Amino acid sequence: MSAAPSPEPDRDCPLCPRLHDFIAAWREREPGWFNAPVPTFLPPEGENSVKLLIVGLAPGLRGANRTGRPFTGDYAGDLLYGTMITHGLARGEFKARPDDGLELVGTAITNAVRCVPPENKPVGAEIATCRTFLKSTIARFPNLRAILTLGSIAHQSTVRALGERVAAFPFQHGGRQEAGSGIALFSSYHCSRYNTNTGVLTEEMFVSVFKEIAAFLKT
Ligand code: URA
Repeated sequence: MSAAPSPEPDRDCPLCPRLHDFIAAWREREPGWFNAPVPTFLPPEGENSVKLLIVGLAPGLRGANRTGRPFTGDYAGDLLYGTMITHGLARGEFKARPDDGLELVGTAITNAVRCVPPENKPVGAEIATCRTFLKSTIARFPNLRAILTLGSIAHQSTVRALGERVAAFPFQHGGRQEAGSGIALFSSYHCSRYNTNTGVLTEEMFVSVFKEIAAFLKT
């Protein structure tokens, strides 16, 4: 019997040469940064406690790529973690540092692409390659009930990771669809500063998605 594929890439994962080279260059420039595939952020209660998985796009250069924790160190995290705390999905205080003591509650956070991409834009082949880790990440949570995807790239990669057809599960902000695997798939515009500055996503819109998820998880 072959072992299940790892849900975490190696620190020197060579599968996407462009991302590997980009990170290598940043290791030289900023040796004190994390500069590696960013692992999934787990709650202290462990894998069995995870009912909700949040899937972002990819680490931000000066955010997760610097700090080593998803959504930590750039604006997107302020909105995400603040909203999660309000809805009981995280506890403590978010101080944008991996040692701030913030704990997730029944939730894990990962990215569709684990390595920081140049200009925040992974290419199709990188998204497809990194999906191996997304699939194994989804599979590692035996009690998973819901996935929240942030943005259309994370949404489409998650749909494919679940073995579904993208055409049958179109991305829509505030959308909720039932995937064949019995998982409720919620989607939101990405909580990036660009989306909030341009009004694509307001705080109210983001909060209403979390309200719906929190209510769903109580059922
Ligand atoms: N930080 C992440 O880890 N993921 C994103 O999608 C954005 C910022």
